[in-house]
Amino acid sequence: MGDSPAIGRADATARILLICPDCGHENAEYAQLLQSKAIFYCAGDGCDYIFEIGRREDFGMGFAELCRRFYAALHLVGRTG
Ligand SMILES: [Zn+2]
Repeated sequence: MGDSPAIGRADATARILLICPDCGHENAEYAQLLQSKAIFYCAGDGCDYIFEIGRREDFGMGFAELCRRFYAALHLVGRTG
């Protein structure tokens, strides 16, 4: 496992945890699914937060940004929870 931020190179079948900064819902989705979407809606009850993954043509950059947000959210949850 380790703590290397290599989610961008994750296998298509790997699951990526998207922690919503709005409601705190943990959205665990397959990398393959996320790679096919430009945006991902939080599945939290009554929450309309949208994870902006980016258009497919600049998926790499968008996904890298998403990973940074993911780690930021993870740290935030770790501090408060
Ligand atoms: Zn949410």
